[in-house]
Amino acid sequence: MFLEYKKVHNCIIIGSGPAGYSASIYAARSELNPIIFTGDQPGGQLTTTTSLDNFLGFPNGINGVDFMENCKKQAKRFNVKIVEKTITKVTLSYKKGGIHYIFFGEKYIKSRGLIIATGSTPNFLGLKKEKKFVGLGISFCSICDGFFHKNKVVAVVGGGDTALEEANYLSKICKKVFLLVRKNYFKASKILQNIINKKNNICVLFNTSIVEIIGKDFLEEIKIYNKQKQNYKTISISGLFIAIGHIPNTKIFSGKINLDKNGFILVDTRDTSTNIPGVFAAGDVQDINYKQAITSAGTGCMAAIDLDKYLYSINKKKLNE
Ligand SMILES: Cc1cc2nc3c(=O)[nH]c(=O)nc-3n(C[C@H](O)[C@H](O)[C@H](O)COP(=O)(O)OP(=O)(O)OC[C@H]3O[C@@H](n4cnc5c(N)ncnc54)[C@H](O)[C@@H]3O)c2cc1C
Repeated sequence: MFLEYKKVHNCIIIGSGPAGYSASIYAARSELNPIIFTGDQPGGQLTTTTSLDNFLGFPNGINGVDFMENCKKQAKRFNVKIVEKTITKVTLSYKKGGIHYIFFGEKYIKSRGLIIATGSTPNFLGLKKEKKFVGLGISFCSICDGFFHKNKVVAVVGGGDTALEEANYLSKICKKVFLLVRKNYFKASKILQNIINKKNNICVLFNTSIVEIIGKDFLEEIKIYNKQKQNYKTISISGLFIAIGHIPNTKIFSGKINLDKNGFILVDTRDTSTNIPGVFAAGDVQDINYKQAITSAGTGCMAAIDLDKYLYSINKKKLNE
């Protein structure tokens, strides 16, 4: 492999979604010679969608796989080193200017700068056909895919803030929105509950879970079960929006870096710095609000600029040891 193990690098990026690639391009153009570790899902979450319709600059939309392939090609144009490995452990220095150790299996490399862009993974319901229909009627993002269900009937699963926000957003576009809540109450804030209760095209079904996803090549229907009434019902929908949370990919950073109660990396309110000098976080891994490709790419850019400034501040930029 082309990695230099003895050298102290300037910029290691963990993750190859929009945040990681955006960071790599900015870092390469600042001559930080970035190395990007792709992890198990090269290209990240967007490689699971056929249509990326809301990223600026693509008037006809673009397939998620093609988009990420373009990002990779663009990074290669700036000589970003792309390593198809998963980081298994990190040992971080708490000292300004200190050296971080980044392990992949038995091997490790050293760097003064680290950008974490490991993203998050949406929670699935665990039903048959669920994964098959992602992008074919099943979605995790109303802002991304609601548009495709204009004037149609859809369902949202979940009872927290995200689910109610999704239902509210969809109610402005769709004819009818079923909001399926497993418990007999909402976990969401009172304000959101009041908004939902006032909508006459949102039908809230408490005590309800999905037991089957039905369709041949595309989602067509769902079978639901009401545990209070103990009955089954089948409803026809064009879209199912799963809003039962995301798990941030931060297991290897647990106890080493400040995380919030759900495991997302805490960054400064004004930039992408974490509580560890030289370590920055970008994209979904630090984002509890937006979780969009464009915001991930945006924070990737910020992380590279923040790291560049950090390296200047410790006089290590462009230093080869
Ligand atoms: C089905 C679907 C459709 C979507 N559609 C849209 C859309 O239309 N528009 C939109 O704006 N957004 C959409 N999104 C959301 C969008 O994909 C995410 O917001 C975006 O991908 C987040 O980018 P990221 O770079 O932060 O992380 P991710 O894309 O999640 O990438 C994370 C990367 O980190 C790597 N990684 C994780 N752990 C390790 C490790 N230990 N070592 C090395 N690498 C690691 C993974 O392999 C992966 O490459 C969609 C998401 C899904 C799931």
